[in-house]
Amino acid sequence: MNALTDHKKIPALFLGHGSPMNVIEDNKFSMSWEILGKSLPRPRAILAISAHWETQGTFVTAMEHPRTIHDFGNFPQALFDIQYPAKGNLELAGKIRSLITKADVKPDFKWGLDHGTWGLLARMYPKAEIPVLQLSLDRNLSIEEHYAIAKELRPLRNEGVLILGSGNIVHNLEHLSLNPNEKPPEWAIAFDETIKQYLLKSDHTGILQFESMGEIARLSVPTPEHYLPLVYIIALQDENEQITFPVDGIVSKGVSMRGVMIS
Ligand code: ZN
Repeated sequence: MNALTDHKKIPALFLGHGSPMNVIEDNKFSMSWEILGKSLPRPRAILAISAHWETQGTFVTAMEHPRTIHDFGNFPQALFDIQYPAKGNLELAGKIRSLITKADVKPDFKWGLDHGTWGLLARMYPKAEIPVLQLSLDRNLSIEEHYAIAKELRPLRNEGVLILGSGNIVHNLEHLSLNPNEKPPEWAIAFDETIKQYLLKSDHTGILQFESMGEIARLSVPTPEHYLPLVYIIALQDENEQITFPVDGIVSKGVSMRGVMIS
């Protein structure tokens, strides 16, 4: 923990988590998460921003042993049986609180790791040997305010911290279909593709002002929480950095599984 400067810069990563079933199924998404876990530079800690932790005010988990939260219903027992026993890191929680000046980040002693976080990490780092923290999404903030907070996390990438956004660029469960042969709707394809093009051009303004896309944006982002983790990750992009997509695809008639890596 002392050699904070001895680390290679860690890519920033956004992953679409989709259904909790991806944790226990071998499919192109879970397999891509496994490959990332094996190929990324080894982080000394992970800071996750998950769609599934929304709060009033901004919090960072500050416990030695965060619990595994099974925040879903109507799924097989095998999913409820999963424990992800990663440790926390109190020193890093304190550092994050002092790094962020745009919000008064408070320590959290109750949350833990929700399925947006452990669902990905159970495949990326199945041994759970890397400490994990979560930063919450303050419901009261504008998208620009989230972006400004996220920018302040940049130094952590040079200190061995993997910052992982977990959400979905398109997340509309209204027409949910589990038929894998069903074609994704046009609005989902169009929104996902437009965001992809903004990402390739490093056009952060386009990503922040997604609502200007009108109807396809309203359908793709009916509520902001699954989109916001992407905003946290693009804010970490330095000028000379490229964006790649470790995996993509639109499933269930309204969920984009696109992953975004900045390195
Ligand atoms: Zn989710």
